[in-house]
Amino acid sequence: MIKNFRTVPNIVFGKGCFYQLDNIIDKRRQYTDSWVAFLVDDVFVATELESRIPQHDDDLLIWVNVDDEPKTTYVDRLTLEVHNHSRTLPCAVIGIGGGSTMDLAKAVSLMLTNSGCSHEYQGWDLIKNQGIYHIGIPTLSGTGAEVSRTTVLTGPERKLGINSDYTVFDQVILDPNLIKDVPGLQRFYTGMDCYIHCIESLQGTFINTFSRAYGEKALELCRNVFLDDEPESEEKLMMASYFGGMSIAYSQVGACHALSYGLSYILGTRHGVGCCIAFDYLEEFYPEGVKEFREMMKRNYINLPRNIISRVNEEQLEKMISVALSLDPLWENCLGKNWKEIMTREKARSLYLKM
Ligand code: NAD
Ligand code: ZN
Repeated sequence: MIKNFRTVPNIVFGKGCFYQLDNIIDKRRQYTDSWVAFLVDDVFVATELESRIPQHDDDLLIWVNVDDEPKTTYVDRLTLEVHNHSRTLPCAVIGIGGGSTMDLAKAVSLMLTNSGCSHEYQGWDLIKNQGIYHIGIPTLSGTGAEVSRTTVLTGPERKLGINSDYTVFDQVILDPNLIKDVPGLQRFYTGMDCYIHCIESLQGTFINTFSRAYGEKALELCRNVFLDDEPESEEKLMMASYFGGMSIAYSQVGACHALSYGLSYILGTRHGVGCCIAFDYLEEFYPEGVKEFREMMKRNYINLPRNIISRVNEEQLEKMISVALSLDPLWENCLGKNWKEIMTREKARSLYLKM
């Protein structure tokens, strides 16, 4: 069966387009008591962006904290907070922030219309009811969360997305001005998430013309941003993230993402930096990509964290390996159908021990 892939139906792109948000939401406010839930990264408390959020009287603004990447328990608490705000459901849920905040907004939108706890929906196509209309507004670029059909959550068992057609945003607003003040290190790590999406997609066995078309363009844009220091780099990075997301949506990520999920689950390593840490040791699988990645690190004065595995005990290392190796499609994309013969537990262990 060929994948029938849902995309974001409405997109605004351009410097300053954030101001159109009020207008876009207005179309959803059909009744006098219609209200909106804004989930905004608390890094924007008392900033200029705060004053530009088009909050009306009955709206709810929740400052979300993403010091830790989203957990299912946090999604459930936020969902309750939104429920408690009114007897009616909001007419829109809006996520303003990086991949973590956008994922929280996606998950809350789904959990408002699906009963139970969010961890029950981690997996593929388990969501039964359409979520609340939701809008994603990235303030960091690279994850592709603005276009993907997943919201990545850490649950009681493992880090796994709620993957469904309902997860996809109904609208995204891509305003390059929103990413221009991101600190350099964060910009690099999240940007490299996109670079690695491209490499893993293009080098993978699942590659096809659709994914290649997006992946090659995204890769070119990443090079413009991280190697050539070109002007308009915010616009390019924003489109790279979008295209990189489109590329993996029709193929898959690979070894680097699988290993980074283990790091994240046990050590709480954040996605961007975790991918960079893992990728630096994957020369044997992605020789050209790793070489270019190191060049990008050099040009951007990045020193990766090292020896992070020294903090891990034997039991944790075993769990890390299990988390990574449970991601069958990622390994199959990277190494082919017989991946288990190549990526044994011993091999995964030896890779982790280098990190
Ligand atoms: P993030 O959202 O976790 O944010 C990282 C840090 O940057 C936070 O401290 C945040 O407050 C801060 N920040 C955000 N915007 C900022 C700005 N404009 N200026 C200054 N600081 C800012 O970072 P991320 O790399 O965008 O997202 C990583 C998350 O995305 C992980 O939870 C990962 O699992 C998830 N992810 C999701 C998908 C998907 O398809 N849904 C894909 C890849 C990654
Ligand atoms: Zn990623």
